[in-house]
Amino acid sequence: MSEKLRREVWDLERCAGCGMCIASCFKGVLEFLDKEEHPSLERKRKVLGLSESELDPCYLCKAPCVESCPRLVTWENGKVEIILSGRSKTPVESGQPVDIAISLLCAAFENGLIDRVLLISVDKWAFKPTPRFVYTPKELTELSLNPYVWTPLLKPLGGVRSRKVAVVGTPCVAQAIKRAIDSSVSELENFRESIRLVIGMFCSGIFRYDFVEEMIIKEMRIPAWKIRRMDVNHKMGKILITLYDGSSKEIPLTRAQKYTLHGCASCSDFAAEWADISMGTVGSDNGYCTIIVRSPVGRECLLNAQEKGFLETTSKVDAGELDVFIESKKKRSKAQEIDLLFLNMLEALQKPEKIPEVERKFSSTFLKKSVK
Ligand code: SF4
Ligand code: SF4
Ligand code: SF4
Repeated sequence: MSEKLRREVWDLERCAGCGMCIASCFKGVLEFLDKEEHPSLERKRKVLGLSESELDPCYLCKAPCVESCPRLVTWENGKVEIILSGRSKTPVESGQPVDIAISLLCAAFENGLIDRVLLISVDKWAFKPTPRFVYTPKELTELSLNPYVWTPLLKPLGGVRSRKVAVVGTPCVAQAIKRAIDSSVSELENFRESIRLVIGMFCSGIFRYDFVEEMIIKEMRIPAWKIRRMDVNHKMGKILITLYDGSSKEIPLTRAQKYTLHGCASCSDFAAEWADISMGTVGSDNGYCTIIVRSPVGRECLLNAQEKGFLETTSKVDAGELDVFIESKKKRSKAQEIDLLFLNMLEALQKPEKIPEVERKFSSTFLKKSVK
């Protein structure tokens, strides 16, 4: 029941904001309320004569929302089949991860591997993020793809009928899809059949829209309509803002930290270990991007782009540098969960009514089922 999500994910500020629970809920009773970083359950009331009672929309439901939430399990290390460094040659020459993803997707469209892509696109006037399906390489090259300004990406995925859907998102998005695909709950069957390819971007945190409003528009005095794109370079520890006039600005990632979703603090996956193919700047020379293939469909996608000449690749990857980022995120999330639990235990010594909540946090920190 969605009650489990409330107790073990939303109340503990562990929601990744991926939107998978909303896509999975065939009754349509979950939604993000304004400014909330997790969904809420819509409760309807029923009047019978003089009495009024609350209806439980989750009654007799097999809870696909719970079965697909990436926050209710622990994640072991994902597979690595191929690791290399690359640059896109077309549609643009670039070493930015977003451009590599577009290059792979254009090649995948051309050979019929996919027929649509779900991604976060930002509008040209307000730089506001929305989940969006695109259906052609032309659309892909015209829009502004931005995986790092938050919106619940997976929300529109419910009810998709195609069998050739690609998704580009953060590691938690790949985890949510993996859970849905692996589940035996019949309500999640559609995801198993429809999702063909998941491209994951390295991630240390996703930013709420107030990052754009407060930091870029107000503090840096850059009108939203002047922003052409925003790239996150974890290797350099910077956010790069490119404007339509060709100039660019940089923001240290540490300064933007306060705008990340609360749920990002307890996330341990930096390198999108459950995507088919994942990418980011860490591990590669400047101007190149590390590309990690993790599944047969990921391999097909990469080989296809290489054969078409859409990508240029080299085997020169600094695996040590990549490991430092991967391990430090795993350690950070564990340390934060344990610190929080310790503080809550101290609080419960003074307030015994808090003990059940602490017990739940203990289970959520140490006793979750793991995915291998
Ligand atoms: S338990 Fe069922 S009805 Fe309730 S929110 Fe989850 S999917 Fe929707
Ligand atoms: S992490 Fe995703 S699936 Fe889980 S509650 Fe949050 S939005 Fe829903
Ligand atoms: S850090 Fe990235 S992968 Fe983790 S929850 Fe936040 S957005 Fe998702």
